[in-house]
Amino acid sequence: MSPQIKPRVRFAPSPTGRLHLGGARTALSNFLYAKRHGGKFLLRIEDTDTARSKKKYIDQICHSLQWLGLNWDEDLVFQSNNNFSYKRHLNQLLQSKKAYRCFSSKKELEDIRQGKDAFNYTGLWRNRDPEDIKKELQKETPYTIRLRTPNKGKIVFNDIVYGTISVSCDEIDDFILARSDGTPVYNFTNVVDDSEMKITHVIRGEDHLSNTSKQILIYEALSLKVPIFAHLPMILGDDKSRLSKRHGATGVHEYQSKGYQPEALLNYLALLGWNPGTEEEIFNLNRLIEIFDLSRVQKKSAVYDNQKFKWMSSQHLAMQNEKSILDGIIKLDEKWGTPKNIKFKLKVIGMMKQRSHSLLEIMEQSYYFFKGPKRLNNLEHGTFWEIDAITLIKELNSSIMLIEDWSYEKIEIHIKNFITAKNLGFGRVMKPLRYAISGKTKGPSLFGIIELIGRDEFHQRVDDATSKFLN
Ligand code: GLU
Repeated sequence: MSPQIKPRVRFAPSPTGRLHLGGARTALSNFLYAKRHGGKFLLRIEDTDTARSKKKYIDQICHSLQWLGLNWDEDLVFQSNNNFSYKRHLNQLLQSKKAYRCFSSKKELEDIRQGKDAFNYTGLWRNRDPEDIKKELQKETPYTIRLRTPNKGKIVFNDIVYGTISVSCDEIDDFILARSDGTPVYNFTNVVDDSEMKITHVIRGEDHLSNTSKQILIYEALSLKVPIFAHLPMILGDDKSRLSKRHGATGVHEYQSKGYQPEALLNYLALLGWNPGTEEEIFNLNRLIEIFDLSRVQKKSAVYDNQKFKWMSSQHLAMQNEKSILDGIIKLDEKWGTPKNIKFKLKVIGMMKQRSHSLLEIMEQSYYFFKGPKRLNNLEHGTFWEIDAITLIKELNSSIMLIEDWSYEKIEIHIKNFITAKNLGFGRVMKPLRYAISGKTKGPSLFGIIELIGRDEFHQRVDDATSKFLN
């Protein structure tokens, strides 16, 4: 379903922590929706909680969004710059009597809370004599500002994901818009900002669904246009509790430092709670923009599955070209593979990318291309690393030196002929040979490795490995 107007959506994080997966999924959904329909994706920093908001988190959130490629349109908006407007709107509500000053003390409110009307603030100052109010103002008694909410009726709205939501007004008390120190509360600032930023669609986590009815009352009291809402299902860990640090990496920066690629993470996040309705699951960002559809977002909470994410990441790596993988690796370690040249490094990447989940894995698993094997001083792979096998590869090491052209094909032919002539099983030679040159029992094509490291290096490695055990 396409919106009638070009949407203006926003991601509105509170900078009280780094960008985590849930936030990134919300940002992505907003971004995709905006881009799909030719609209704008905006970023607003909800930093009115001055005690908990930190500049370092603002920087980190912005950095992670940029790393993901979720660049925002227009200037960054800070709630802390908008105090004047909040005051103006609060005054407007007081003047139109849609809100009122409440001078109740903490003690009075506590008593109400303990009483039978526990959930319903009865509005001690809702219909107070203006003279009483004047007196308190003269005494400079601190006050909160509360919304005069309707006593009867229902608040009904249509959420794109959760359908029609109806909340009875008697479930909503005269809630606070501004605290006694004058600071406005989240529900109020959120409405004022969304309205000033001309937000058409509010797309956010399902944990905010319960705020929406209150916010609609604020929109109505201020005679502002109510946006369309879409709440996204929660993301749970594998034990079905809400995804948190306990479940492992939840910060976007952790994925970056572990060498995962933004497109893989975006792909995985997009599918958390959204069914694209296709067999295919691997999408790049442009393809996601083409197919993203809020109406296919599910209500049910989504479960984060790290194995699935890693699989998806490996699929992206396998499709990615070597040069862009190298660019990503250089960002993690600019000295990687030095002093080998770029051509050599690209070849290593070409061989490793099909079998890795992350840039870090490519880096860690490919060290032997550059530095030789690490583990030739023990016999931990004893079943194949035994005297006959070592003698065989020593012999192979001499014969293979005679081939003229050190190419994949010639190396392959020579080794296969050697094995056939001896009437041996393939593994009898290939396993110890791989171990001798890489220190590993598994890896990409052995002929490819042999070709790439070159004749001299090959000879040296096999010589080192075999002489160590034959002498
Ligand atoms: N600052 C709120 C949060 O981080 C945003 C709520 C909203 O998107 O309306 O959860």
